[in-house]
Amino acid sequence: MPINVVIVGAAGRMGKTLIQCLARRVEPDLRLVGAVDLWDAPERGQDAGCAAGVADISVPITTDLAAVAPNADVVIDFSGPHGTAGNAPRCAVWRRAMVIGTTGLTPEERAAVEAAAHEIPIVWAPNMSLGINVLLELVERTARVLRDRGYDIEIVERHHRRKKDAPSGTALALGQAAAAGYGWNLDETAAHGRAGVTGERPTRQIGFHAVRGGDIFGDHTVMFAGEGETIEISHRATSREAFARGALRAARWIVGRAPGLYSMREVLELSGEK
Ligand code: NAD
Repeated sequence: MPINVVIVGAAGRMGKTLIQCLARRVEPDLRLVGAVDLWDAPERGQDAGCAAGVADISVPITTDLAAVAPNADVVIDFSGPHGTAGNAPRCAVWRRAMVIGTTGLTPEERAAVEAAAHEIPIVWAPNMSLGINVLLELVERTARVLRDRGYDIEIVERHHRRKKDAPSGTALALGQAAAAGYGWNLDETAAHGRAGVTGERPTRQIGFHAVRGGDIFGDHTVMFAGEGETIEISHRATSREAFARGALRAARWIVGRAPGLYSMREVLELSGEK
C-alpha cells in the first residue's frame, strides 16, 4: 500500500527538495497527493513537480490544506513557525500524522505542536539528517567524558543569508546535547554572541555564534576548548538532500504509530548507548 504524503511549504527550498526526492522515489512507497503553500507564493497553482524542476506529477500547489489533508496518511510541514503552529492542531482534528522540520518556534507555538501530539503521532526535529543526529550522540558522549575537566563549549553555525531564525534549531539541539552531557541547564548557561568589554569567559557557559551568508546549506561545529588542546566535532551539509531523505524516512516510519512526539533518534534507531 502506498503511503500518501502532503507537503506544506511545497514552494520553499525544503519543499522543492522533498518533491525532487519523491520524484526520484528515494522512499519508493511514498506518493505525493497534495502540495500546499501561501497565496502569495509565485508557484501557487503550478504543478508541484514542475515547480520543483522535475516532471509534471499532476499535483497542483494549493493554499487549502483542508482540501488535501483528507487524502494524506502523513503531512510533512517545512513551512514556518506560524504555519506549523496553525497546522498541527488542524492535523490533530483530522487525525493525520505529521513530520515537522520547522525551526524557530516561540514557546507558545511549541506548545501548540506539543498539544497536537496528544492526539496524533508527530516526528519533530530541527535537523532530519542522519549525520547531524549522529553528531548529537557524539557531542553528548564527548561532553559526558569531559564533564568537570575545564573544557569550554562553543558552538558555531553557518547558514545561507535567507535563514530567518538564529541560532539554528540544530545549534540549539547540539547545545542541549552538550548541556545534558555536562549536567547543565541550557537556558541558564547559553550565551548568544559576544561584543564589547565582556570580561573573562565564565566557566559555566555555552557560547553560540551564528554566521549568515550566501547559499550555505548548514555547517555546525561544537568546540570543546581546553588547556593546550581543542576538540572540534563538525558537520557540513553539501545539499538539502540529507534533510529531505531524513524527513521522508520519518514520514514512512510515523504512519500507524501511537500519538506522541517522536525524535529522529527514534526514527533512525540510533542506539543512544551511554
Ligand atoms: P523557505 O522560506 O524556502 O520555505 C518555506 C515555504 O513555506 C515558503 O514557500 C512559504 O511560502 C511557505 N509557507 C510559509 N507559511 C506557510 C503556511 N502557513 N502554509 C503553507 N505554506 C507556508 O524555507 P526553507 O529553507 O524551506 O525552511 C523551512 C523551515 O524548515 C525553516 O523553519 C527551516 O529552519 C527548517 N529547516 C529544517 C530542516 C530540518 O532538517 N529539520 C532543514 C532545513 C530547513
